[in-house]
Amino acid sequence: VSALYVLATPIGNVCDISLRGLHLLSIADAVACEDTRNTSQLLQRYGLSRPLLATHEHNEREAAAKIIERLHAGQRVALVSDAGTPAVSDPGARVVDAVRAAGLRVIPLPGASAAITALSASGLTDERFHFVGFLPAKTRQRETALQELVELPAALVFYEAPHRIVETVQSLLQVFGPQRQVVLARELTKLFEDIHRCSLGEAPDWLAQDANRQRGEFVILVEGAPVTEGDGAEAERVLRILLAELP
Ligand code: SAM
Repeated sequence: VSALYVLATPIGNVCDISLRGLHLLSIADAVACEDTRNTSQLLQRYGLSRPLLATHEHNEREAAAKIIERLHAGQRVALVSDAGTPAVSDPGARVVDAVRAAGLRVIPLPGASAAITALSASGLTDERFHFVGFLPAKTRQRETALQELVELPAALVFYEAPHRIVETVQSLLQVFGPQRQVVLARELTKLFEDIHRCSLGEAPDWLAQDANRQRGEFVILVEGAPVTEGDGAEAERVLRILLAELP
């Protein structure tokens, strides 16, 4: 049926695309993608070729208008990002929003997401987690953003680029202290995949011991604050959060 199909693509291992996803890529009238070179490589890998529509953070609005035109004409349009799930720390949300606002159908095709992949292999929690994504690049803003998360009783999920991993771990240690567990999940599904868990206090040394440990793409997970029960501390905590939100 005519719809915008939001399709998750691999985050490394090219086999991590669903059969349903491959079928879609073989029948879609067009593929809206972040980087046409990247997506044509994926298509080529499976012997496919489709019209590509460049849809990145700088032209999402105009791209959305063109996609909507195609949907009105009864077409199937796939939306992908360079890796993983579109609209999660990636472009896509504006297109989806515009398509929905136009009363047209949006169909998700689930698959890889770096955050969920890292969580599933971390052993950190089977309960709550809080997705943060990328932190601010500047130390002061980064640590202010982290301060707001100190008391949250949920595993925290961060995305990080290789050139900032050391600084970010330093900020995490600074704000959360040395006791909490951290998981550094690097190059997931790729040849040099490495998922290391230790305390935040141990993490800087571990990274410094081998330059390779600082290479590649990272998901960083941090253990949540302990849930305090009984003496009303939890109620007080929630109340403080709610009060901060009041005008
Ligand atoms: N939308 C994507 C998703 O849901 O997986 C995330 C895209 S975001 C622009 C890219 C970030 O995701 C990287 O900087 C890194 O933090 C994380 N990431 C993507 N692929 C990864 C991988 N193979 N291993 C570890 N982290 C990865």
